[in-house]
This record gives sequence, structure tokens and C-alpha cells, in this order.
Amino acid sequence: MTTPVTIIGAGLGGLTLARVLHVHGIPSTIHEAEPSPAARAQGGLLDIHAHNGQPALRDAGLHEEFLGLVHQGGEATRVLDKDGTVLLDEPDDGTGGRPEVHRGDLRRMLIDSLPAGTIHWGRKAAAVRSLGDGRHEVSFADGATVQTGLLVGADGAWSRVRPLLSGASPVYTGMSLVETYLFDGDTRHPVAAKTVGGGSMSALAPGKGIQAHREGGGTLHTYVALSASPEWLAGIDFADPAAATARIVREFDGWAPELTALITDGDTPPVLRPLHTLPQDHRWDRVLGVTLLGDAAHLMPPSGEGANLAMYDGAELGKALAAHPDDAEAALTAYEQALFPRSAAAAADSVRIRELCYGATAPHSLVAFFTDGGQAG
Ligand SMILES: Cc1cc2nc3c(=O)[nH]c(=O)nc-3n(C[C@H](O)[C@H](O)[C@H](O)COP(=O)(O)OP(=O)(O)OC[C@H]3O[C@@H](n4cnc5c(N)ncnc54)[C@H](O)[C@@H]3O)c2cc1C
Repeated sequence: MTTPVTIIGAGLGGLTLARVLHVHGIPSTIHEAEPSPAARAQGGLLDIHAHNGQPALRDAGLHEEFLGLVHQGGEATRVLDKDGTVLLDEPDDGTGGRPEVHRGDLRRMLIDSLPAGTIHWGRKAAAVRSLGDGRHEVSFADGATVQTGLLVGADGAWSRVRPLLSGASPVYTGMSLVETYLFDGDTRHPVAAKTVGGGSMSALAPGKGIQAHREGGGTLHTYVALSASPEWLAGIDFADPAAATARIVREFDGWAPELTALITDGDTPPVLRPLHTLPQDHRWDRVLGVTLLGDAAHLMPPSGEGANLAMYDGAELGKALAAHPDDAEAALTAYEQALFPRSAAAAADSVRIRELCYGATAPHSLVAFFTDGGQAG
């Protein structure tokens, strides 16, 4: 393959693409907005699925190394109602097939697997334009520009590359998450720690929930889910953590105190994360010399699939480019023909999982789903 590949974004998707290309001897450059690998905490545990995340890591030649990063015991699952009654309690007996790993560890493994100099940090794409004949120019916030014959937008929800292909932009789902952390749970927050258990805990009711995961060192990482309008959210001053916490917890009046403690006893300021999506059947007509992967292509409500899909997209695109060394367009066509139905199916599933978690019959809908052998998140 003679055209170097230019990737915008060093998330899990862009990194997996670069790594799979490297395995096949194809050079690439990633331009990443963040100034360094350590610029931002990388979120919590991800379960890596046997049908997408794990095969992607095999294609990257990193599956064995990944197994060494697995957070043991993290697959235990609990579902509670608002009174704190445990409706489902599945221990991690090692047969779940969805090993949990810290996103930061996974990202670090991928970064370290690339030749030095592959990633250009502090390179925020500000604008992208077509030069004709499948060539594109990317302008960065620091004033630099690059021209490329093969551009991949792996730059997440608010992709700067996507407008070359599609007029779609993310729309607010009507639900938001508020993120909190309780550190040293077993020692400093023992009641909350016991309630969360050894893995993940979902306490749910229609339209809302408190979901927490036990991470390494007894950290309790919580996402509080709320149905909320942008106007209502705008009325909360997140710059005042105490006031924001008090306002959020009012939405959980009457809930068991061991659950609301995950909100009120946070060791970090609450962080608002509004959830946006692209259309479920988001697709585009082939445009010479450019494509998308991961959230840039198919942003959906959190369902435990997004990071897995981004890695899978990256691996599939890398393999397609390797299989068509002299014909990048054939590679992009093959990649997109599989990408569109795969993404649409996952987006439909994510809506179904959201309904199981926060619909009118939650939490019993989620319990029934698990009891029938399903897996959510
Ligand atoms: C609260 C929450 C919980 C989630 N939990 C899970 C889970 O448990 N399991 C799971 O599989 N998925 C989960 N997801 C979804 C998952 O995080 C995403 O689907 C996944 O990170 C997408 O990967 P990506 O590589 O496409 O994009 P991203 O991870 O968003 O990476 C994009 C990269 O591009 C960079 N970038 C952005 N703009 C620019 C620019 N203009 N120029 C240069 N660089 C740029 C960013 O800095 C970033 O490094 C969750 C999402 C949320 C919001």
C-alpha cells in the first residue's frame, strides 16, 4: 500500500486501526487533539466482548497482552430496585466471557504497541477540506496542515471529518449521566461498597438509575442516569459541586440511603455527561479517499458496545486496507458495506437496552432479560 493513512483521533478505534495497519506493514499517522497520553483520565472499566472487541485485539496481535490487563472479578452483576432490594446477583465465576479492563490500561497498551512517532499529540483538527481526486487537507488548531490521500475520521462523537461524508450531527437523547467517584470504598464507604458488590451494580427505576462499578483499589465509579431536558440541566451549576449534588440527589428522594450515598458521598465533583446519538441507520455515499469509524460513524446510547465496536471497526478497516494494497477505494467500499448494517443493528440493540434499563417496567425488565440468558452492558 503506497498511500500513507492519516487518522484523526487516538481513541480506541483509531489506535486499533493504526496497530492493525502496522501489523500488516502499512504506515499511518494519528493526529490527536489531547496534548499527551496522560492528559485526561480515561474513564472506567470496559467489558471486552467475544464477538467484536476480542477479535479486534487478536487482529492487533495483542490478545495475550490484553488478558494480562483483565480486572479479575469485574464481571459480577447486580440489579437492585430503588429500595435497595437485590433482585439479581450473579457472581463472577470466570465463565462470563466478557472480561473487564480499565480503559486507560487498554489505551496505553495500544499506544505502546505503535512505532514511536506514529501519534502526533496536541493536534486538534479544526477544519477539513477536499482538494479533489480523493485528496484532503486537514488544518489543525495550532496552524499546521497536512494533505493526505487516505483520511480516517476516528475523532469521536463531534467528528470534524464526518461533514465530508454526512450532514448528520449528534442529537441529545433526553438522558444524561452524572459521574461520581468514591475512593477506598471498603474502608471509607463500606455500606456503599457492600451495596455495589464485587462488580457492577444497577439500581433502576423508570427514567432513572444509579449504576456503579467497583474498580481497582475499591474505587466505586458511579453513573447516575437521569431523564432531563437541556433547560433543566442548564439550571444546575456544576461549578458548585455541593449545590449540584444536592439538586441531583433530590431526583432520588425515597431511594435507599446506601444507594444515594453513591451520589452524596462522592470524592470528586459530579461531572455531567449528556448523552447524544447519531441516527440509528447513519450511513453515507462513498466519498473518495475518506471514511469514518467508531463514534464518528455510529454514536449510540451507552450499551456496553461503543468501545468494542470502535476497536472492531478499526481492525476491519485495517484488514480491508491490507487486503487491497493497490486499491484503497475497494477497501473502503468493502469496509463500509459491512459497517453500515453492523452499526444499525448495534444502535437498535442499544435502544432496546436503554428501554430495559430505564423503561416503564424497570428494573424488572432488566432482571427478566438477564434471567432469560441475555447480557446488557
Ligand atoms: C458514560 C459512558 C460510558 C460508556 N461505557 C462503555 C462501556 O462500558 N463499554 C463500551 O464498549 N463502550 C462504552 N461507552 C462508549 C465508548 O466510550 C465509545 O463508543 C468509544 O470510546 C468510541 O471510541 P472512538 O475511538 O470511536 O472515539 P473516542 O473514544 O471518543 O476517541 C476519539 C479521540 O479523538 C480525539 N479527538 C476528538 N476530536 C478531535 C479533533 N478535532 N482532532 C483530533 N483529535 C480529536 C479525542 O480526543 C479522542 O482521543 C461509554 C460511553 C459513555 C459516554
